[in-house]
Amino acid sequence: MTLHLYDTYTRSLREFVPLNPPHVSLYACGLTVYDYAHIGNLRTYIFEDILRRVLEFNGYTVTHVQNITDVGHLVSDADTGEDKMEKGSQRTGKSAWEIAALYTQVFQEDLRQLNVLEPTIWCKATDHIPEQIAMIQCIEANGYTYRTGDGIYFDTSRLPDYGRLARLNLAGQQAGIRVERGEKRNPTDFALWKFSPPEAQRQMEWDSPWGVGFPGWHIECSAMAAKYLGPLFDIHCGGEDHIPVHHTNEIAQTQACYGTNLANYWLHGYFLQLNESRMSKSSGDFLRLQTLIDQGYDPLAYRYYCLNSVYRAKLNFNWEGMDAATTALNRLCQTVYEWGAPGSVDEEFLDRFQAEINDDLNLPRALALVWELVKSDRPAATKKATLLMMDQVLGLRLADWQPAAQHIPDEISQLAQQRQAARAAKNWAEADRLREQIAAAGYDVQDTAVGPQIRPQK
Ligand code: AMP
Ligand code: ZN
Repeated sequence: MTLHLYDTYTRSLREFVPLNPPHVSLYACGLTVYDYAHIGNLRTYIFEDILRRVLEFNGYTVTHVQNITDVGHLVSDADTGEDKMEKGSQRTGKSAWEIAALYTQVFQEDLRQLNVLEPTIWCKATDHIPEQIAMIQCIEANGYTYRTGDGIYFDTSRLPDYGRLARLNLAGQQAGIRVERGEKRNPTDFALWKFSPPEAQRQMEWDSPWGVGFPGWHIECSAMAAKYLGPLFDIHCGGEDHIPVHHTNEIAQTQACYGTNLANYWLHGYFLQLNESRMSKSSGDFLRLQTLIDQGYDPLAYRYYCLNSVYRAKLNFNWEGMDAATTALNRLCQTVYEWGAPGSVDEEFLDRFQAEINDDLNLPRALALVWELVKSDRPAATKKATLLMMDQVLGLRLADWQPAAQHIPDEISQLAQQRQAARAAKNWAEADRLREQIAAAGYDVQDTAVGPQIRPQK
């Protein structure tokens, strides 16, 4: 069955054809670890996890590389202002190295709680300084760099194709530009290497052929992707904000050094918004996964919430949506549990499911199909086997769910046992009478493949 993905580079839905089937190489931009991940960031990682699971569902083996940005990301895209890590260090009173370690660890724990599959390779920018220096030297040797008072810059006017990913209107930008561009030759030029400021010692700095300093933000991804996946690989992804600057510049660097376009497919997840505006770490107005957990929500309910919208549209976060996702997920888990042991898969439903996910990861339609299966007249064992297969993509841990140990009063349990005895003796009238007595006390009893289940009435 063919898989179609929306490629930002060509602005089209394209059939996915990997370079070396059945292998797929995937690079996802990681977190800038100067603060906790917010649930907007996590929406993007859930989308990338779904992408990976869909690839695997289609029989591909995926090498998934994800970096950690622990240096070089400045507060401004124009390469001015402080390094986000140094800024985070001032905010917390901890060293830049300490906060990188702390936020990386919390981020990885968030991903585990959301059942996001572990990338094949995690790579940190600070562990790859020699690779980044070597790539800058390659770009320099090919004639794409110049030196200013504060760093080594990429001359974007040398690349005829610069900005193609974002459809940047360079002529318009150059003419209309009013902002201070310092010593940069073109407004879109960007730093490959920044010199440490002479007045202050930086916490993160390294020797280089150009002087002591630190790498620009974009070079880390070009250098690490080339190291682990080669200069041309299958899919590169990230959030929509990466289109005009970060990914545009990653492509420029790779073209200048290797003459390749970095990736064959470019996929971008759209923003999670809070009160109609982008959730961002820098604004400070953000929700963490832990915030949801503290309010009593299951992390997987947030996963369900994200699956219920397409990744290529902005999503407004609201608590009613979280409540609805919680109810739906609980119902699904409980239903699957009560179906008992799995039997054989319903191939027709599974094919329809694959058709939905292969249509540019249409998870909302895939979830609608899940509910159609739940309500269908297929045998419980068939439904269970089919749903567990689907869960390889959904990642809702349906097989692991157990009913919460809820307190059922002794007298209700006793009534339920008497009812079981009546049923065993085929005394249906007595069994019905006991069920009504249980209901009058505020509980429902349901007969399932794993025995009678008692729960408080809603
Ligand atoms: P950062 O830590 O800023 O480098 O972002 C990590 C990932 O989260 C990147 O792929 C961003 O594009 C993505 N991202 C940032 N803000 C949001 C948001 N509000 N909603 C969804 N993804 C986001
Ligand atoms: Zn990146």
